[in-house]
Amino acid sequence: MPSVTSRLLDIQSRIPRGVTLVAVSKFHPVEAIREAYDAGQRDFGESRAQELAVKAPAMPEDVRWHFIGHLQTNKVRQIMPHVSLIHSIDSIRLLRIVDSEAARIGRTVDVLLQVHVAREETKFGFTPDELLAELPAQWQPADTSSVRVRGVMGMASLTDDNSRIAADFSEIARVFRELREGLFAGVATFDTISMGMSDDFGIAIDAGSTMVRIGTDIFGAREY
Ligand SMILES: *Cc1c(COP(=O)(O)O)cnc(C)c1O
Repeated sequence: MPSVTSRLLDIQSRIPRGVTLVAVSKFHPVEAIREAYDAGQRDFGESRAQELAVKAPAMPEDVRWHFIGHLQTNKVRQIMPHVSLIHSIDSIRLLRIVDSEAARIGRTVDVLLQVHVAREETKFGFTPDELLAELPAQWQPADTSSVRVRGVMGMASLTDDNSRIAADFSEIARVFRELREGLFAGVATFDTISMGMSDDFGIAIDAGSTMVRIGTDIFGAREY
């Protein structure tokens, strides 16, 4: 089996400049993360609060930790000292709690709004309509001073149909553009579209992704 280092270099060579690679290290041990770190990788993604809280202190301070899983409000405090970017804000309530927890420890945290476009009912996130029509009535960027909303995150439907996947990613990119021209008009830091995983990151990049989240193609299969 190829090493983490060689897989990482291969993925990096397939991602254009300007697209950030988040190496999704969930369920993999610190030793594997360390190997990727030694190969130059600094952005790592985790999906469980407890796992992030254990791994972060075991790694150097210049790692940028991304929280990509569903975030329960009672876990926000656990990740707050460690996390650079929370990809999975899926309610206004969670956004406000993240803001107050960040303020409580005197920091600012970057977040993304999760958009639900996939056909599966089980995926979390705001629908496009909730973001474009309802969010502006209930929340404004100036309402929360310790979170910076940097953009959106989304996933495509679970399917082998590449045209369906491309349509899902285009929809996420459209929501991003409408928010940038609407609720976030003039906010220069609203600049991130997080979409694309091991199986579909090429399609996501073609659709405008600025950040891909890749686990299996770097670290191998996960054991659940
Ligand atoms: C696990 C996970 C990934 C990485 O998936 P791979 O298919 O292993 O690349 C990306 N994004 C989210 C939200 C995940 O939960």
